[in-house]
Amino acid sequence: MLEVRNLSVRYGAYTALHSINLQVNPGEIVVLLGANGAGKSSLFRTLSGLQRPSQGEAVYDGQVLTLGRPERCVNLGVSQCPEGRLLFAQLSVEKNLRLGGYTHRRDAAGNQAELERVYQLFPVLAEKRADPAGSLSGGQQQMVAIGRALMARPKLLLLDEPSLGLAPLVVDQVFAAVQRVNEAGVSVLLAEQNAFAALGIAHRAYVLEGGKVTIEGSRDELLHDDRVRSAYLGV
Ligand code: ATP
Repeated sequence: MLEVRNLSVRYGAYTALHSINLQVNPGEIVVLLGANGAGKSSLFRTLSGLQRPSQGEAVYDGQVLTLGRPERCVNLGVSQCPEGRLLFAQLSVEKNLRLGGYTHRRDAAGNQAELERVYQLFPVLAEKRADPAGSLSGGQQQMVAIGRALMARPKLLLLDEPSLGLAPLVVDQVFAAVQRVNEAGVSVLLAEQNAFAALGIAHRAYVLEGGKVTIEGSRDELLHDDRVRSAYLGV
């Protein structure tokens, strides 16, 4: 479904990603583990068309994603939920969600149906639909950010560090929702530092260190890998 081939990203003289290769197959949740600065957001921005690679490409469903055209990526079915959520704090929850459906703006009925699906996934957002997004708790804001990405009706969701700054109980709720989204047919590429929570819902995972993929395997392989256990699971 998604094939990243020899992808490198440079910022001036600095190379943030060194010839990355990875795949996401239909129906999978694939986790990308990595510490701060490992290059997770650089990869996501590149897959979303916000950043041009210096080398290599990413192909999704036979189409090249890495042309620096974000609107093309969204139209192809790839939608990003960015690190830090990046909501419009003054706008209501519902307006934030509807902005995610912009590419389907001529399909008002479809957007309404999608909005109802988001409210079913996160019932608390239905209660707070008229409130400014900035007035919500961190976990609820993360739900809005995921919901906004879903409004674009993606087949592949790029989810960048959704657990950042959230209490453990809230992380569990958010990850349970991600699992339900996946069961409804959306593939997920999930960048995380919270390895324990992320591997709990993953089918496969990659470890990114210093802009390079250093470990890859199934969820069980990573859970039993001594390097992952000591560096990311604290055991
Ligand atoms: P974090 O979780 O802290 O965001 P990350 O794994 O997402 O980490 P990136 O944000 O992709 O990592 O950053 C990878 C490296 O590239 C870091 O060393 C960062 O300082 C550098 N970097 C990121 N964006 C830029 C930029 N626009 N210009 C220069 N360097 C950058």
